[in-house]
Amino acid sequence: MKACVFTLGCKMNEVESASLMRGLEARGYEVTDELGYADLYLLNTCAVTAEAEKKSRQAVARMRKFNPQAPVIVCGCASERDGGAFARREGVTLVTGAQNKGRVLDLLEKRGIFRETETAFCALPAPKRTKTRAFLRIQDGCNRFCSYCIIPYLRGRTRSGSAESILREAAQCGAKEIVLTGIDISSYRDGDCDLSGLLRKLGELPVRIRLGSLEAGVVTDGFLLAAREAGNVMPHFHLSMQSGSTAVLRAMNRKYTREEYLGCCGRVRKYFPDAAITTDIIVGFPAETEEDFESSLSAVREAGFARVHCFPFSSRPGTAAAKLQDLPAAVKRERMGRMAEEAKRAESAYISRFIGRELTVLFEEEGGYSENYIRVYAEGAREGALCRVRVTQPERDGVRAEILEVLS
Ligand code: SF4
Repeated sequence: MKACVFTLGCKMNEVESASLMRGLEARGYEVTDELGYADLYLLNTCAVTAEAEKKSRQAVARMRKFNPQAPVIVCGCASERDGGAFARREGVTLVTGAQNKGRVLDLLEKRGIFRETETAFCALPAPKRTKTRAFLRIQDGCNRFCSYCIIPYLRGRTRSGSAESILREAAQCGAKEIVLTGIDISSYRDGDCDLSGLLRKLGELPVRIRLGSLEAGVVTDGFLLAAREAGNVMPHFHLSMQSGSTAVLRAMNRKYTREEYLGCCGRVRKYFPDAAITTDIIVGFPAETEEDFESSLSAVREAGFARVHCFPFSSRPGTAAAKLQDLPAAVKRERMGRMAEEAKRAESAYISRFIGRELTVLFEEEGGYSENYIRVYAEGAREGALCRVRVTQPERDGVRAEILEVLS
């Protein structure tokens, strides 16, 4: 029997799908993440933009084309937001949501969709075993209610995995690098143990630790000291800025000013001078004036980002920002073009600092990532090898390098 787990959206969805796939494998299914013929389809949807929701709905039709007889189970944010849009589609057997993902396989068993099994699906599943990178989910949900974001309504309030189970899973997963993921990992807490405490504990393991997206507020001296002293936390910090204008940040219900955000970037560099700071920016938020937008451009220049992911504002029904007057599409398009250029300049400037210098790279199937998240290509690189390399020139989306030493 073959099962297809098809995923749209964020890293968190990918991590959760990976655990659903493991659960299906444990039940004897041959599992794939590519759309094709299958006996059972599980669709993990995304609602972050209207486009993502549309693609989620279209995926049902694509599954039906491959096998009109197979049950289609829909979970994830788009089904939490508008379950009816999926339930009405022919062939859809079950629609859950974003908050019930840990129970999806149990629900299928109860409905007799596959046979009884002794393997229980855990609420905080272990990452997929791999020799290179594993994604470890440490937290779910969000209490921040940014005015443009639907996620807190779909995922519920913040909750964290126990430090003990995270340490156990990290020690057992066999990967050389672990990426800590969640919706808002900055709010991680297990009793007295916050994210800094967790990093200190993970510092005892012989594995590289990379952090998922962080909120600027978590980047205190105490946090950065804990990260540095852990010794295995990679100097890569994804700090979502969203806008460089304090007025827009206030309208977004982000809890920092432009100056505070840029201060966080400076603080990161005090502890990790070569750190890659990457970010997300929303372009064309309602009421973003030309002056506000130029503040975002200048903040990109000042922060010295290694990478900028920019997105045009997309109104999500049910959020506070959906009540605001959207900007004309042409204005958003024009600003997106300028932001993309600024982002390219920032990325090239960051990369050029490392030409001729040494980096440590964990190679994957094609290329690998350095400690500071530069994409590196090298002749003779073996998947899973951790190597010391010297950077020779920029290439494609990263750099070319020569291997100096294979470390493990
Ligand atoms: S921090 Fe803001 S943008 Fe991120 S999930 Fe929470 S509400 Fe959404």
